[in-house]
Amino acid sequence: MNKILGLHHITAIAGDAQRNYDFYTKTLGFRLVKKTVNFDDPQTYHFYFGDEVGTPGTILTFFPWANVRQGKNGAGMVTEIGYSVPKGSLDFWKSRFEKLNIRHDILSERFGEKYLSFQDSDGLWLNLIEAKHKDERKGRKTDEIKADVAIKGFHTVTLTLNNIKATAAILTEVFGYKQVEQDDNLYRYETDAVENAAIVDLLEMPEAQGGINAAGTNHHIAFRVKDEEDLMAIREKIVTRGLHITEKINRDYFYSLYFREPGGVLFEIATDNPGFATDETVENLGSSLQLPDQYKAMRDEIEKGLPELQM
Ligand code: ZN
Repeated sequence: MNKILGLHHITAIAGDAQRNYDFYTKTLGFRLVKKTVNFDDPQTYHFYFGDEVGTPGTILTFFPWANVRQGKNGAGMVTEIGYSVPKGSLDFWKSRFEKLNIRHDILSERFGEKYLSFQDSDGLWLNLIEAKHKDERKGRKTDEIKADVAIKGFHTVTLTLNNIKATAAILTEVFGYKQVEQDDNLYRYETDAVENAAIVDLLEMPEAQGGINAAGTNHHIAFRVKDEEDLMAIREKIVTRGLHITEKINRDYFYSLYFREPGGVLFEIATDNPGFATDETVENLGSSLQLPDQYKAMRDEIEKGLPELQM
């Protein structure tokens, strides 16, 4: 039985907090579903951007560090994030990026799917993809982004690796993915456990150098499980393979495990429970700063240290 339910969230690094907030909420139309701090560094925000209710498989999170240096993609990293968009919407997005001066490529096609690559305000590479399969998720609409063009959630992530073999073995032997397509040095893996956010692409580049994990690059990807029981079952399988994996960590909105897969990418496994509507209602998601128990007594000091955010 497959216990991994596709992607849960992806976490990347940004520079200026306001610029990051504006790009994901205004330019792309996501909702800030949680505004909290980095649990390991409470002087830094942790933003979660997703659909209206923060559904797993739609969540991109950021640690915005004001003075972080510019990062660079390389081997052993997640190098592209692919979002699913409605069929026929790419022309809208292309004109929007032109109008707003957002760096983007020409429309391309990969595995029979049209896509548009672009960079966020820190240089992070993202793709908007018209998925082949039926994606019935409803994207979040805004005044400028109507329902027929709204971004639905994750489609795929791409990992760049010197050699895909050991990473592919984790995907297929532990996570229940299957290789479904190949185009030259790009290998597509997919799970049938979920309809969406179900694809991982592995790009094999034997000569690629390591990158710099700083602004505009990804920090880790989290795969999704139903609950803590499934989480611990995956932990057991990873331990059996002789890989180092953390103990279960309470992230307030999910429970997590982390391990570095053999190709160098930091993988997290995260549960659906308890979800984002635990410390605020669905209606109020993201509207005020939420702190985990260990920092609640320090709220004044933490708020003073964080950059101001115009929402
Ligand atoms: Zn994470």
